Amino acid sequence: MPHIGISLRQLGLALAFGLTGLLLNLFPLPLFAAVQLIFGNTLYVLAALCLTPGLALITALLCTLGLYWHWHELYVFMLFPLEALWLALARRRGHYALHADLAYWLLLGIPLIYLYGLLATELPSAHLLFAVSKQAVNGLLYTSLGALLLIFIPKLAAMGNRVHGTRHARFSNRLAYVFTLFLTLTLMGSTLAFNEFFLKAQQALIDENLQNKTQYLVQATDNYISEHRTAIAQAADWLSLEVPEPEQQQEMLTRLHRHYPAFVTMLLTNDRANIVAASPAARLLDPLIQSGDYSVADRHYFIEAFYNQRQFLSPVFLGRGFGTDPIVAISAPLFLPGNQLKPRGIIEGSLDLGRFGQLDKLSSKESTHFIIITDEQRKVIYASPKLGLKSLAELPLKPSGGGYRIFLPMVNLSEPDNTHPEYIYETAATEFGWQVYVLQPFEPLLKLAELQYLRTGLLMVLAILAALWMALRISRLMTEPLEQIANHVGRFDELDQLNDSNVTIEVQSLFNRLRHSQQQLLGYQLELEEKVAERTRELELANAELQRLAERDGLTGLFNRHYAVSQFETLQAMCERSGEAITVAILDIDWFKKVNDTYGHLAGDECLRQVAALLGQEFKRDSDVVARYGGEEFLLLLPMTNALKIEDHLNSFRTRLKDTTMTCPSDGREFSISVSIGALVANANYARELDPWIKLADDNLYRAKNAGRNKVFCSILKSPDNGDFQDEAQGI
Ligand code: GH3
Ligand code: MG
Ligand code: MG
Repeated sequence: MPHIGISLRQLGLALAFGLTGLLLNLFPLPLFAAVQLIFGNTLYVLAALCLTPGLALITALLCTLGLYWHWHELYVFMLFPLEALWLALARRRGHYALHADLAYWLLLGIPLIYLYGLLATELPSAHLLFAVSKQAVNGLLYTSLGALLLIFIPKLAAMGNRVHGTRHARFSNRLAYVFTLFLTLTLMGSTLAFNEFFLKAQQALIDENLQNKTQYLVQATDNYISEHRTAIAQAADWLSLEVPEPEQQQEMLTRLHRHYPAFVTMLLTNDRANIVAASPAARLLDPLIQSGDYSVADRHYFIEAFYNQRQFLSPVFLGRGFGTDPIVAISAPLFLPGNQLKPRGIIEGSLDLGRFGQLDKLSSKESTHFIIITDEQRKVIYASPKLGLKSLAELPLKPSGGGYRIFLPMVNLSEPDNTHPEYIYETAATEFGWQVYVLQPFEPLLKLAELQYLRTGLLMVLAILAALWMALRISRLMTEPLEQIANHVGRFDELDQLNDSNVTIEVQSLFNRLRHSQQQLLGYQLELEEKVAERTRELELANAELQRLAERDGLTGLFNRHYAVSQFETLQAMCERSGEAITVAILDIDWFKKVNDTYGHLAGDECLRQVAALLGQEFKRDSDVVARYGGEEFLLLLPMTNALKIEDHLNSFRTRLKDTTMTCPSDGREFSISVSIGALVANANYARELDPWIKLADDNLYRAKNAGRNKVFCSILKSPDNGDFQDEAQGI
């Protein structure tokens, strides 16, 4: 059963297409952000173009499986198989694949994804349009690829046993379509590649910028901290040289603070962690401090500096009692002069974290950058206010933007679980373990990319339209003169010249050759017609001659016996209808043998001709048949005879012959001849056959001979009522 054989082969092909598509779709080509090229779908385009819609659907479902693997979105099972079905049905109706696909995306694909995006995803509506057109562009790309593959590898179509629609399109349309396919593919490909390069360069630029900013900030932070650490260290050294008086100590601290105003507060403690000097000095007026019981013994900065006897830079913490802002403390131990083993207290300065705000303001002046500085425990020391991060808060550093392919790290701060990234950033560590982050919103980059895609896409559409116009124009230039020629083949006389200024040399030459060969053909035809006419004329003459030869006697030119006999039937019938009489007469030249013998055979022949000529003159009605009956005998068939006059008529002939002088052609001797005539006159209904008539006429001829020759013996048969004829022959 061949039908099932073909179906099985086609099913196999659909499955092979589908599995190849599935494999290809497992490795989509990632481009910037969330753009991916899915070439696996080309396979179901092929299936749609050369298999049945049902098989195309199977292929499409398999291909889509590969996409689902990546995207985990159920809507793909509707979007892509529907496209395959649409293409297959459009193909059956004879539509071009690319046109059909464009229609699919405009009428079904884009509205469907847009709806899905609105209802089922968190995608910002601003990006929805981009996401949607991205799919359409993808669709057009793999559809043109599929259609082109089919054009350039006709074996594919043959394998699919493409049964449907061999459409005969106009050459110009077909050329324009192939052009469009090719341009769509190449222009889309180059646009995407160009955008990819452009966006890569853009990212590199952004990255460099972010890195510079980060480095600058790290440097500035390092400088800021080291400057103040140095200040504290130097003050501690100096205060360890000798133990000043309390007032002196307070004054020194106030002076130091004046030099380093970035400290919010500064303090000195004794070995019991009681504050012994503070700046601003007003802090000392605090009753708690004045009471002398206020201790900072539990503070990190005290413990690290006093017990561990080292200079200390604290993580960020919230000031307590002495100040309530988030602060970073720098502290160092104070020693008794000459005793570096047992501290006598500490010096501490709380750094103003707001200073980073100034750096932030400076750095974000010319661009939309945000900064975050964290301590070694990843707690926020400073964050640009717009980020909405509180100091001391833990920095959420979950990487985000999983679906987006860009080269910079991405982070979400306000909505950590959203897949759409909020910021891209760069980070670097400071000398003393802090981390500096410079962030830039992702949105503008995405917008730039989208704008770039849309702009280049628009340019591409314009380029395709222009090229399409060109292709149509060029192909028309080629086909219009050909069409003119085709329309006038066979009647070039109506067309002297091709009316197109764009006629090429080749087309003009074709036209000239066709015209020339048509003229040649016309010439041949005329020649042929003339020849045929001539041959027909010759044939007619030959026929006439043949007929004459068949009917006439060669010597005398009279009808021959055969003709006369054949004519009798017609004459008889005609006369019988009108009740007329017929005369049948036989004439025999007398003593003809002697004529031959005496004057020669030629003279005999001449006699025969003379007799014939005389007979022609005597019996000249159209209906009379005068024939040479044989030798020197003649036969007369005279229809519609007047019975009363015929005998005289025959007799007058006999007399006329007798009176005619014959001349011997050889020697000019003269002589005369006579004729005996036997005749029968009867009503036509006497007999249908000629023989009875001849018989009676012959009898009369015999009588005429016997009666001495040169006689006419004529029987007139009366037609009696009973139908019996009576012979009443009379001799003259
Ligand atoms: P009769 O009066 O009894 O008819 O005598 P006759 O000599 O005419 O009789 P016969 O019938 O015996 O002779 C006929 C002759 O006619 C014999 C033949 O040589 C001659 N003849 C027949 N046909 C031709 C012809 O075509 N040309 C010439 N020159 N002679 C012919
Ligand atoms: Mg005879
Ligand atoms: Mg004779």
